[in-house]
Amino acid sequence: MQFRDLKAQYAAMKDSIDAGISAVINDCNFISGRQVAELEARLAEYTGVRHCIACANGTDALLLALMAWGIGPGDAVFVPDFTFFSSGEVVSTVGAVPVFVDVDADTFNISCESLEKMIKKTIKKGKAVPKVIVAVDLFGQPADYAGLKEIAGRYQLKILEDAAQGFGGRIGERMAGSFGDIAATSFFPAKPLGCYGDGGAVFTDDGHLAELISSLRIHGKGTSKYDNVRIGMNSRLDTLQAAVLLAKFDAFKDTELEAVNQAAAYYTEKLKDTTAVPVVPDEFFSSWAQYTVKLEDRTMRDGLQCFLKERGIPSMIYYVKPMHRQEAFFGEQYYDENYPVTNVLCETVLSLPMHPYLTRDEQDEVIACIKEYFSH
Ligand SMILES: *Cc1c(COP(=O)(O)O)cnc(C)c1O
Repeated sequence: MQFRDLKAQYAAMKDSIDAGISAVINDCNFISGRQVAELEARLAEYTGVRHCIACANGTDALLLALMAWGIGPGDAVFVPDFTFFSSGEVVSTVGAVPVFVDVDADTFNISCESLEKMIKKTIKKGKAVPKVIVAVDLFGQPADYAGLKEIAGRYQLKILEDAAQGFGGRIGERMAGSFGDIAATSFFPAKPLGCYGDGGAVFTDDGHLAELISSLRIHGKGTSKYDNVRIGMNSRLDTLQAAVLLAKFDAFKDTELEAVNQAAAYYTEKLKDTTAVPVVPDEFFSSWAQYTVKLEDRTMRDGLQCFLKERGIPSMIYYVKPMHRQEAFFGEQYYDENYPVTNVLCETVLSLPMHPYLTRDEQDEVIACIKEYFSH
């Protein structure tokens, strides 16, 4: 059994993916080929956002957003403590201070209550000025944007939506990628919409920011590539990756999102009396980058992971370590008692096999194994 079965996906779409790749190789338009602009247009339309700027990976997408806003030394950026390293790494890359915020025990997303507490503390400390909230759509589920927008308005902060895992998710009819003042996503192979290497994109309704980001991603270009008006980076999306994404995109939106939601509903129905299953609030729709259950404590969690492994069932721990305990951030001072929820989640979560090609038989095998573990 695969944790995320990319081979099954390739088998299902082999012809269109191979044709897309061949077209790029035949044209030899490896950089900035027409497929990149076509992908940007399709993704902008899908998310309902005016501008989509494709780039080299999700981390760069986050970085480009912070650079476009001019975030740097003396600025504070609020980041959930329970997320992938990139969400906070980019803050340090631009020289700003990442202020980690605890998360909600049910949705695993940034807690509005903890956010406001950390904003107040940061203002009181007076060392760094609050500027941006990084809201992560963790495991595919959008963050609480109603609550976040209220706080952002009150303290005049920008929202950077980290939709690296959330692409395809939505709240009501509104798509992930449209909630932040700027949003970033990733096309890393294992993400909900993945390419065959690294890839990413930035989304914004703001035309001025879109222009800035387009410039920053190609060496701060002005009127041409050899007219450089600002310091940027080299962060284009390869044409080959755009072609792979275009070949996969229809299936992603028309069948794969529905398939992962059915698989998630089945796990939840069968496991809800055995262990703590994911909580999806009303109106929220997840793209199920991960299906993550919570165990009672670390011993139970690690025990279940071993038990599954012995029976050939892969599982993953996202995430083993809170951001505030990552050595890379030891230059800043973080207090463990500010992160009670994240500290517990890191000891108790376990992500189960989840992808659009997961079969009922495979799910039944996982479910039976978990039930057997609990019956001991
Ligand atoms: C994967 C991921 C990123 C980074 O994306 P890359 O394309 O790997 O650079 C950022 N944030 C979150 C939450 C992620 O899961």
